[in-house]
Amino acid sequence: MAIFREFAQLCEEIEKESGKKEKARLIGEFLRQLSPEEGRIASHLFLGSFPAGRRIFVSWNTLMDTLGEMFPLSPKDLQKIGKSAVDIGEMVEGIYKRWGRYKSRGITIREIYEKLASLAELEGKGAMRKRKTILKGLLVGMDSLEAKYLTKTIVGEMRIGVKEGMVLEGLAYAVGISIGEVRKGFLLYGDIGKTVENFLSKGRTALLSLSLKPFQPLQPMLAQMAYSVREAFEEIEGDLALEFKYDGARVQIHKEGDKVMIFSRHLNDLTSSFPEVVEEVKSNIKGDAILEGEVVAVKEGRFMPFQEILRRVTRKREITRMQREIPLKLFLFDCLYADGESLIERSYEERWERLREIKGGIALAERIVPEDVEKGEEFFRKALESGAEGVMAKALKGIYTPGSRGKLWLKVKKSATLDLLIIGAEWGYGRRHNWLSDYHLACWDREKRELLMVGKTFKGLTDEEFEEMTKRLLSLKVREEGKVVYVKPEVVVEVAFNDIQRSPRYKCGYALRLARILRIREDKRPEEADDLSAVEKIYHSQ
Ligand code: AMP
Repeated sequence: MAIFREFAQLCEEIEKESGKKEKARLIGEFLRQLSPEEGRIASHLFLGSFPAGRRIFVSWNTLMDTLGEMFPLSPKDLQKIGKSAVDIGEMVEGIYKRWGRYKSRGITIREIYEKLASLAELEGKGAMRKRKTILKGLLVGMDSLEAKYLTKTIVGEMRIGVKEGMVLEGLAYAVGISIGEVRKGFLLYGDIGKTVENFLSKGRTALLSLSLKPFQPLQPMLAQMAYSVREAFEEIEGDLALEFKYDGARVQIHKEGDKVMIFSRHLNDLTSSFPEVVEEVKSNIKGDAILEGEVVAVKEGRFMPFQEILRRVTRKREITRMQREIPLKLFLFDCLYADGESLIERSYEERWERLREIKGGIALAERIVPEDVEKGEEFFRKALESGAEGVMAKALKGIYTPGSRGKLWLKVKKSATLDLLIIGAEWGYGRRHNWLSDYHLACWDREKRELLMVGKTFKGLTDEEFEEMTKRLLSLKVREEGKVVYVKPEVVVEVAFNDIQRSPRYKCGYALRLARILRIREDKRPEEADDLSAVEKIYHSQ
């Protein structure tokens, strides 16, 4: 709970600080620790515009009368002190320090808000007396610093050099998003308190949900890795559901009236690659919607490898032949918008319900809400037997957080894998002598923004893939030293391994044992490769 005295202390610091950036940072640090509701209150307090849009009706005279009742000061004394004061807050602080016998009782900013709100509501006969009583009630439980800032708030002049723009800067800092996005949110919410409250509770989602509409794709929500179903249960707060994790292409489907568009994970337009999905959506979904799902290649009842889907995406001209050769199946798993309403702030539980209502005959991802870990592990085995890659564990109460890899969704695969960047490769021997084959694999150290090598492998690719990869890596070459060709880190590969060992061989102190490439992650950008913490996590979970 935010204590008003801490707020007052912070105001002192802000006032002394001359740099605008530094002032905003101080505000941000403070906002970051608050609940969304407290954030709303604090933002009004910083600006002395409290309570929002209402007038408190405490005049200078009322304030002086109240102080007169609390301290051994005649009206004449007060008048004299008042005349020489530049700032009423400092004047009150001076009085407290000179004649002070009151101690802080640690009032919270919420209590202050409630009390001042009640002041604003007083009207009619006796209102003046009641105002004084409330004010005195507040002031006798305060020390000089609190009294100083309470008075400043009441008169609406903080004089600490904080304007609305600076509170927004602090908010951007607290939430970790750009000031541009926060300003846009402010324009749409129209009120500083509401803006702060919404961004603190929903992060970037606060903005998106306001502007969400069909044909404006949004960054998909991402998942972190869990190393077992049990770990998913431990990591996710509250109840969870498990869904099959299909090995296909993620699609974001937008529909309005008769028009349907399909976007990829990186928001590229895939509409013309998947005509049968467009038709399926048109004939099943009645209203407007934004849906998410996975499109999988299926032949004779079996899931085909992920690469098959890629062929459907890359060979656009031969689409009719491709449709025959690589039949698709769509599994829906989320509903982000339906009939004019954004659902991303709703819980996953509610979104799933809505999805069930509107899906018509389209398949949903196979799913259970397991009662316990054992039931979850049973479902995980079933997923693997059916040819799925594993399961996705999703917090029932979780909102949809676009573009972020949080703990509301966790992926559990058969064995842990890492998505690593190829930073170099070595010319092969014998049969491989024309190919770059021994790949140097690296993960990120995100803080230092550098790549750390964690292993090498020449296993896992087909001859055709080796040939392709050699061409690709040579086009990314930056230098050659002995038999090693160093390349621009652009290619992400999913790597399996037997275990991770502590090893002095690499700077990061870890090495993958018996690494092999499972597949080339064409769908991942370099910055999406795993970082050292993922390596450490697997090491400790072994
Ligand atoms: P990864 O690409 O390994 O980070 O795993 C996340 C991806 O799994 C998502 O981007 C989807 O393409 C895919 N996926 C498959 N099935 C599901 C599902 N039921 N829910 C969410 N994502 C899924």
